[in-house]
Formats: sequence, C-alpha cells, structure tokens
Amino acid sequence: MIARTLARMNINIELQRVEFIPKTLEEGILYLSERFKVAAHLCPCGCSSKIVTPLGPCEWSITIKKKKPTLYPSIGNWQIPCRSHYWIKKGRIQWSYSWTDEQIQAGRNKEQAKRELFYQKKTDLTKGSLWKRIRNWILS
Ligand SMILES: [Zn+2]
Repeated sequence: MIARTLARMNINIELQRVEFIPKTLEEGILYLSERFKVAAHLCPCGCSSKIVTPLGPCEWSITIKKKKPTLYPSIGNWQIPCRSHYWIKKGRIQWSYSWTDEQIQAGRNKEQAKRELFYQKKTDLTKGSLWKRIRNWILS
C-alpha cells in the first residue's frame, strides 16, 4: 500500500496542444484545445477514465510554464469509482486526500455559490451600464 502510494507520487503529465480532444487518450498527456477551451487527460490512478476539464472563469484555469501545465483548482474525480483527487502542478500529478461525501457536497455548494456570484456580477454590470446610459441620456 505504501509502495503503491509512493509509486503514485511521481507521475509526469505532458502538455499536448490539439485542436480536437482525441477519442482515445494516452496516459501521461494533458490534451489542451485552446480553440474549444477544454483540456482532457486520463485519470492518473490507472483506471483510465477520461477526465475532461472545461476551461473558463467558473471552471479550470491553465497556466503553462516551460511547456509544463498547471491546472487550477484540483481535480476531484468523485463521479467515477476511483474518486481520485489530485493537482496537476508544473507537469506533475500531485495526489491529494480523498474526498468524503460531505466534502464533495461542500465542494459542489461552493462551486454553485461561485457560479451564482459570477452571473450576479455580470447582471449587475449590465444593469449598471444600462442605468448609466439612461442617466447620461437624461443629463445630456
Ligand atoms: Zn481513476
């Protein structure tokens, strides 16, 4: 068990830029489609599940330094049986703790709140600019 955990610590993941995410993915590669704002890779635990991470302000963000990808936030595969949880940092898999059901729920709530706040802000901005336009129109 310890040996397995240690073996799991050192997995490199290479960046490969693609236009379309291929149907069959190779292990150890993070496919990035900037055109479709999505990244995909195989679950590094060995279960070979295809993990797709959409990129955007409410989803994942990717930074690439010296061709080494970093994804933020971490990837929690609670929807597949292995429930792997890890970070992709500087081209490496960094294993994190497994999530309990409560943590998964808390994470989902947090995501939901973040999303609501994001769209709330967007709506406020639109409202603000509309109000400004009306006020400018009245004042002019
Ligand atoms: Zn897995």
